[in-house]
Amino acid sequence: MKRWHKLLLLVSFLVPLLTVTACSSSNGKEAGGGPVQVTATTGMIADIVKNVGGKYVQVTGLMGPGVDPHLYKASQGDIEKLDDADIVFYNGLHLEGKMTDILTKMGRSKPVIPVTEKIDKKNLLKITGGQYDPHVWFDVKLWMKATERVKEGLIEIDPAHKKEYEQQTEAYLQKLAELDQYTRDQLKQIPEDRRVLVTAHDAFGYFGRAYQVDVVGLQGISTASEYGLKDVQRIVNLLTERKIKAVFVESSVPKRSIEAVVQGARHKNHQVTIGGQLYSDAMGQPGTEEGTYIGMVRHNVDTIVKSLK
Ligand SMILES: [Zn+2]
Repeated sequence: MKRWHKLLLLVSFLVPLLTVTACSSSNGKEAGGGPVQVTATTGMIADIVKNVGGKYVQVTGLMGPGVDPHLYKASQGDIEKLDDADIVFYNGLHLEGKMTDILTKMGRSKPVIPVTEKIDKKNLLKITGGQYDPHVWFDVKLWMKATERVKEGLIEIDPAHKKEYEQQTEAYLQKLAELDQYTRDQLKQIPEDRRVLVTAHDAFGYFGRAYQVDVVGLQGISTASEYGLKDVQRIVNLLTERKIKAVFVESSVPKRSIEAVVQGARHKNHQVTIGGQLYSDAMGQPGTEEGTYIGMVRHNVDTIVKSLK
């Protein structure tokens, strides 16, 4: 056979093979073979997707550092990012309260998955109005369930990389298990009666339950609810009685509410300091350690331990 004949034969064999590969890798999504386009609402969810999806996904997160998801409204740009996605992940349990309509609408044309849906209802904290507390990411074990849900969603839309998604999930779950243990070990440094976490809003309910910390929020579960003078007085009394040394501010909530508590305590001659900034509903800047879920939790734990022990 002449050389160019051989080449032609090789090409005619390879071309259909490549086409088949491209199609099968994008099973369930638009053909094209590129990475799965994923849009996630919060940074914490986008971080799961990055870890589970690796190079097979391209993640767009809607809510950056310092953004409050309870009050967040989708912009025109966000709607485009949701439109462009092959699959959308969001927290659910009404965290993204103002995005419910748009997420429901998107759900008619593509998978739109609440990552909390696999968590057994009996493991969720009930709040007023028959709803559940949405801040599940601060119980690392519950966040591992959310990680599993992301894995399932990615396999559903891109079954060709099932094995890779499973391996990457295993690796991430291992890190999360270590984070859970780290949190338990570190918090033991604070004497039990001083394990009281006072913050601006009730984002740490699951954290408190999982790691035996009394959590007191000034503002209620959603930042949409206003705090009153009564709340300030209740917390000032608690701080004074239990001799708590520090209260905490949050990256996504204005400082002034917690400053009212510090001032109130001062009037009763009890010195309380602001123990530092905790990440509650949003992660830190991208590229920093706190810009990842694991870094964010570690930062919170270290900040709490340093101020309260
Ligand atoms: Zn919140």
